[in-house]
Amino acid sequence: MASKNQGDFVKRKLPKFACDIFRKISKSSRKTGHLHIDEKCSGCGLCKNNCPVDAIELQMKKPVWIKNECVMCLRYLHLCPNFAIQYDNRTKNHGQYLNPHIYSLD
Ligand code: SF4
Repeated sequence: MASKNQGDFVKRKLPKFACDIFRKISKSSRKTGHLHIDEKCSGCGLCKNNCPVDAIELQMKKPVWIKNECVMCLRYLHLCPNFAIQYDNRTKNHGQYLNPHIYSLD
């Protein structure tokens, strides 16, 4: 029968300094500063209303990301009816994806 010992086994896999470095790199890669809104934004608020962590505010009818809360799920990018949200130049040619079984727009 397999042992069911409890413990923090993940903690010992990497030394603390490596975890700290990884955490810093991961944190810096979540930069909402790379997000931009183009002229197609109609200010509908769909991105704000569907953000799972309430990381988007509408200011002057344009979405603004609250840096510390955004988890970069990119849901807003795929939900925008005008494809007005881009991440650098990387997303322009990618298009959008919506799972018809999951998303309901409101
Ligand atoms: S969903 Fe698109 S069009 Fe609507 S406010 Fe957000 S960025 Fe603008």
